[in-house]
Amino acid sequence: MSLSPMMQQYHQAKEAAGDALLLFRMGDFYELFHDDAKTAARLLGLSLTSRDKGENPIPMAGFPHHQLDQYLAKIIAAGHRAAICEQMEDPKQAKGIVKREVTRVVSRGTVTDDALLDPQSSNYLAAVVTDKAQERVGLAWVDMSTGLFACAPLSPTQVADQLTRIAPAELLLSVDQRDAMPTTWTLDRTITTRPAWAFGQKQAIELLARHFGTQTLDGFGFNCESPADLMALAAAGAIVEYLTETQKTDLSHISTLTPMREGQSLEIDAATWRSLEVTQTLRDGRRDGALLGVLDRTTTPMGARRLGEWLSYPLVDVAAINARLDAVGELVDQSQLATAVRDTLKNIYDLQRLIARVTTGRAGPRDLQCVGRTLATLPALKAKLTGRSSTLLAGIESRIDLCPELRSRLETMLADECPHLARDGGFIRSGANEKLDEFRELMSGGKQWMANYQAAEIERSGIPSMKVGFNKVFGYYLEVTHAHIAKVPPEYIRKQTLKNAERYITPELKEYEEKVLSAEERVLALELELFAELRDLTARVGPRLLSTAAALADLDALASLAEVARARNYVRPEICDEPVLEIEAGRHPVVEATEPAGSFVPNDCVCAGHDVLSAESPAPSPEPQAPSILLITGPNMAGKSTYIRQTALLVLMAQVGSFVPARKARIGVADRLFARVGASDELARGQSTFMVEMTEAARILNTATHRSVVVLDEIGRGTSTYDGLSLAWSIVEYLHNAIGSRTLFATHYHELTELAEQLPGVANRNVMVREHFGKIVFLHQIVPGAADRSYGIHVAQLAGVPKAVSARAEEILAELEATGHRVDTSHVAPAEPAVKKPSKNGSLQLTLFETTEHPVVAQIRDLDLNAMTPLEALQRLNEWRKDL
Ligand code: ADP
Repeated sequence: MSLSPMMQQYHQAKEAAGDALLLFRMGDFYELFHDDAKTAARLLGLSLTSRDKGENPIPMAGFPHHQLDQYLAKIIAAGHRAAICEQMEDPKQAKGIVKREVTRVVSRGTVTDDALLDPQSSNYLAAVVTDKAQERVGLAWVDMSTGLFACAPLSPTQVADQLTRIAPAELLLSVDQRDAMPTTWTLDRTITTRPAWAFGQKQAIELLARHFGTQTLDGFGFNCESPADLMALAAAGAIVEYLTETQKTDLSHISTLTPMREGQSLEIDAATWRSLEVTQTLRDGRRDGALLGVLDRTTTPMGARRLGEWLSYPLVDVAAINARLDAVGELVDQSQLATAVRDTLKNIYDLQRLIARVTTGRAGPRDLQCVGRTLATLPALKAKLTGRSSTLLAGIESRIDLCPELRSRLETMLADECPHLARDGGFIRSGANEKLDEFRELMSGGKQWMANYQAAEIERSGIPSMKVGFNKVFGYYLEVTHAHIAKVPPEYIRKQTLKNAERYITPELKEYEEKVLSAEERVLALELELFAELRDLTARVGPRLLSTAAALADLDALASLAEVARARNYVRPEICDEPVLEIEAGRHPVVEATEPAGSFVPNDCVCAGHDVLSAESPAPSPEPQAPSILLITGPNMAGKSTYIRQTALLVLMAQVGSFVPARKARIGVADRLFARVGASDELARGQSTFMVEMTEAARILNTATHRSVVVLDEIGRGTSTYDGLSLAWSIVEYLHNAIGSRTLFATHYHELTELAEQLPGVANRNVMVREHFGKIVFLHQIVPGAADRSYGIHVAQLAGVPKAVSARAEEILAELEATGHRVDTSHVAPAEPAVKKPSKNGSLQLTLFETTEHPVVAQIRDLDLNAMTPLEALQRLNEWRKDL
């Protein structure tokens, strides 16, 4: 069957678009055909019709062109990509079939339109590539809407952690590696596959150097000899290749590539990230209810995104942390300054996303106007920052570039009200361009020209009552009453006779008329031309605007931290290099914010990392060392998780450079933060809870150091009590003996509290509860010592379990306790503690890990049953029973 020329054109474009839905522009509509039409009908609720209704109807669906944005949003939200195929010439002027081309491919990771983006979050496109043996991984990520571009050489175990923090909107993978990638990297992600060559290392270096206009990539801090760096660069190259291929625009706002290396920031793995709910809640992924929700009081989207970045990558350098704390401190102390800064920031637009749209050629007049208005706000902001004592604030002052030439150009050229789209016209201020004023004058009927012309002709002809008029049939004319006909100049051409007047046209009027009629088109054309000039001018200033934008983002994030610190009464933490943790009256930032004011019970936390590896030659310590491990026991609902989570959050906040909710805090910089708290969400990933728990525990035991902070909740829940207890026991021992990290271990295994007697670095804490008329009251207060019982039945009662059930449980408990069955350790399978340490008195450890069999067992083994009568056997049984 032969295809119509247009359908041939369609198929060519569709081939180029690959698996993206092809939006094929036909007149005022975007149409989709074949399978794309079916998908779109389902996805977008369009009605499915057909083209060539005959033997081979082609499924078709479409929507009016001005609804493009709205449909794009739905397409990409559903994880699809859309290739937009435009008409490249005016159909009226086209000879034969209209030329069409795919002008860009829109996907989740490449959008720059505000309508398709969350202003407060970064929108990353990421790429992952591995070597053949899957030993080295390269990860790169870019925010096309702001220009931020980074890459990291990683080991396979780090990939899922990084991806969790970056949360890319779209992930590029090589088509031949896609299936071999672990699901923890790919599950629930929008994936776009690219040909294998797009990830080539050599081509990446060339492509990146060309993109940045540099000879080598050394200047960015890469070593092109290093296999690890090459992997990272290969991923970065794949991103640039993809953007070039799909966006077909200038990408110069992506002006630098930052290498992210291990040890540059606080390492936080995926499970910790989720369980601490730093940027979003575990249950429903909201910002409210997460730490970011409490700390974010920014006034600009740039600030909100910057704060998110800071929380994702807390610092590890004491000086850098103190620099942020100095700036926050200055803003806290000078509340008037802080208020003034925040008020001024309210007039700042999202400069980063504006510039991204300007350089990619997608900006409209209102975007330029927003750039101009932002520039107009800068002098006041800069003035407020002069003479600041903290280095960061002073630095921000000098990084703010007022760009006066651009500002004045935008202000003189743009009208007070600008439309979104340039094609709507009317955005160049009158008086800004003479030609344009003239065209506009013509367009609006040119009253002045008319008056002038009329006056001149009256003067020349001596006909005082002559006037210029307009009608649809003749256009412009001169009207002369019969009384003056004799004086009409000879060159006038008579067109119409009325009762008492004649109407004439003149060559000048005709010429003028033509001008008027084409003026509308010319006004728009000229406005578009002027707009393009303004846009190019802005794009040229782009790099200066972007570094100003970065300074504004920093300022807003700092001001936000100061505002929260002031409003919530946080203090500046003392930051040091020694692995200590001394928190006085610490509070949970999020729980505190949700509970009625003043009802949160503050708690202390003191512990210190022990450098167990170099403990062979310990420097004699003058004072007793703080414990490295705090074992926290207490009934359910007492506040154990809240307490350990709050400690981890305070460490993270301090390393972000934020003040912390406490009366006083001294915090030694952590290299890694581990938290396993609350329900695991990994079940959905097809792994059993226990397997997940152990994988995570293994991760901690294999990577934590004495500089790390570890908080663990109820390790060993997912298996039988004895298994669980044994594991929890040996994990604590290992953390104590082989790692020495600052550890908070919340547990309902009451038996573990005996560890405090055996290991010098372990101390017990419990959460106070009071019994009050048979009910328990949670005091949420952490005190030294072990909890004496677990109160589970009381809690069950509080939760509304029928009275009969809780009463019976009390009975069973009493019985078990009386017969000593609560910890029947004789059933514990032989287990080898990971690191053996001779126990001082070893009582519980012995009972736990004792493997000698009971003497009765030997006697049973030695019995010669064939030589015994049933009565004898019964007697022996009776004796044993007595013995036991
Ligand atoms: P656990 O881990 O011991 O079961 P949680 O930490 O989940 O207990 O705390 C249970 C509830 O008690 C929390 O939801 C919180 O509302 C409240 N809570 C915990 N700690 C405090 C505190 N220090 N001050 C006030 N309320 C608290």
